[in-house]
Amino acid sequence: MPKTIFLIGAGGLGSSVVMALLKSPKGAALGKIVIVDPDQTELSNLHRQIIYTMDDIGLAKAEQTAKFMVKQRPDLIIEPIIKRLQSAKEIIAQAQGAALIIDGSDNFTTRFAANDAALKLGIPLIHGAAIGFNGQLMTVIPGYSACLRCIFYGPPAGQEASCRSDGVLGPLVGEVGWLMAIEATKILFLEGAPLSNQLLTIDAKRQRRRTTPLKRRKDCSGCGDLT
Ligand SMILES: [Zn+2]
Repeated sequence: MPKTIFLIGAGGLGSSVVMALLKSPKGAALGKIVIVDPDQTELSNLHRQIIYTMDDIGLAKAEQTAKFMVKQRPDLIIEPIIKRLQSAKEIIAQAQGAALIIDGSDNFTTRFAANDAALKLGIPLIHGAAIGFNGQLMTVIPGYSACLRCIFYGPPAGQEASCRSDGVLGPLVGEVGWLMAIEATKILFLEGAPLSNQLLTIDAKRQRRRTTPLKRRKDCSGCGDLT
């Protein structure tokens, strides 16, 4: 049965994920992509949000992304949702039936909500983030691999860094987005091994990539009670 990807965020990461998914193998494995984003495209987004042009400014990213995708992959069902999802409950309600969640959001609240929703739904989560010259990527397989809360516990106290306030290297966002799409493709097509129980970090200034082994915590507030 064709599977559904639930993509949170149609910003820098999300638009790169979309570009890469359009190049994924055609066939029965992928049938639908749900794209969730509450925002409209701004001029300052264009350097890193690669599917948008000047014509998209002021228009809803989720809808513009869906239009972009339909033109290239009419074989897929694309469903845009213009909404800010910030709790696991909201994500669970929208992501019912999805085969996996790809989180390309830009804030810690949504990232941890996506983590908790994937754990509750029992579906993989592909997490990616980029700020400045640094990027990171990991895949969570509920009940098997470390989740975000095993490693980072929860959203940091105080003001969080953001691409808007701190900047980000456009091509780095592209790299992380394409790596997220590779993870999604492997999971959908049951090829290779996901980047689970590992955290890939990218230091673009030094062109270094490092994979750090991770372990589940038995007392993790997110996945500690999963078997
Ligand atoms: Zn955990």
